[in-house]
Amino acid sequence: MNTQPSNKIIRVGVLGFGGLGQAAAKVLAGKREMILVAAADQKGYAYSTEGLNTEQCIKTYQSQSSVGYLEPVGTLSNNSIQDLIATSQPVDGYFLALPNLPNDFIPSVAQEFIKSGWQGVLVDAIKRTSAVEQLLAMKEELQAAGITYMSGCGATPGLLTAAAALAAQSYAEIHKVEITFGVGIANWEAYRATVREDIGHMPGYTVETAKAMTDAEVEALLDKTNGVLTLENMEHADDVMLEFAGICARDRVTVGGVVDTRNPKKPLSTNVKVTGRTFEGKISTHTFTLGDETSMAANVCGPAFGYLKAGRQLHQRGIYGIFTAAEIMPQFVN
Ligand code: NAD
Repeated sequence: MNTQPSNKIIRVGVLGFGGLGQAAAKVLAGKREMILVAAADQKGYAYSTEGLNTEQCIKTYQSQSSVGYLEPVGTLSNNSIQDLIATSQPVDGYFLALPNLPNDFIPSVAQEFIKSGWQGVLVDAIKRTSAVEQLLAMKEELQAAGITYMSGCGATPGLLTAAAALAAQSYAEIHKVEITFGVGIANWEAYRATVREDIGHMPGYTVETAKAMTDAEVEALLDKTNGVLTLENMEHADDVMLEFAGICARDRVTVGGVVDTRNPKKPLSTNVKVTGRTFEGKISTHTFTLGDETSMAANVCGPAFGYLKAGRQLHQRGIYGIFTAAEIMPQFVN
């Protein structure tokens, strides 16, 4: 049993410092219960026990393309995640704001943590069913390593999956969970991995072909669609998460959405509709709709840290292994 006081400030690392990683750093800057001590991108990492300066991290990343250039706390490295872990600096939990390209990249990062002997909380906002399945299969290894892994903790999967799990409580049987998301971003370069992974869901594309596309090829595709990606019947882990939590069979869950890469205004209101039968035999639908003013970044990073806090509480109680957003209630981070 961990004897550390539960009100201790949680030291957080953010792996991946692109669109979501930078937004995560900004979210943390406004928190008292968590502090950003580590950040890593493809070319380097930065660590500071007292806390990294968010503005300086973002400025350095945007001007020099790596937080590794941040003086005096940055280090350049082509193996930034392994090297950061190897420093053995104290970090209580990491948010993996990394591209999952290829589809086993985040599971391979989890393996690095297992091998390293580090103990703490890992949180991802991973999207594909097959990726979450790879992680779920690592449950015993995570348990043995003393890691509490919170998977699928962004917006979808994440906030909306958790909302579906809550809405399901009114019903005796769940017939349908329909998630429809609207994302508006000013330019696709701010969220390259998100856009590439979404292209991987389009007919005729795969994770591999989307990963292999050059920036010019992505731009050419977006030019053809006026910057808009329309996605249907996506392979999204909300299905396996709701099945794993015992709520409904995965084939009752559908996910689709519209992403406008040239306009920060959402093309439609993100929502989840949960249809079921009550114990009295009535068929009804609960709908949970996100406010249009809330950005993708707000709806991913808020829940990710809420689940990190929840994961920290589990970890302190000696509960290790893997949990998804459909099983655990996120804790609000002050
Ligand atoms: P991005 O392309 O903007 O940034 C990726 C970052 O990862 C960059 O800083 C890059 O340098 C870093 N990186 C890449 N390879 C690395 C490596 N080997 N080691 C260390 N750092 C590395 O990405 P983004 O658009 O912010 O998306 C991040 C992830 O968030 C994606 O996987 C996306 O699918 C996911 N996402 C989830 C949700 C959700 O609701 N669940 C929503 C949006 C995005």
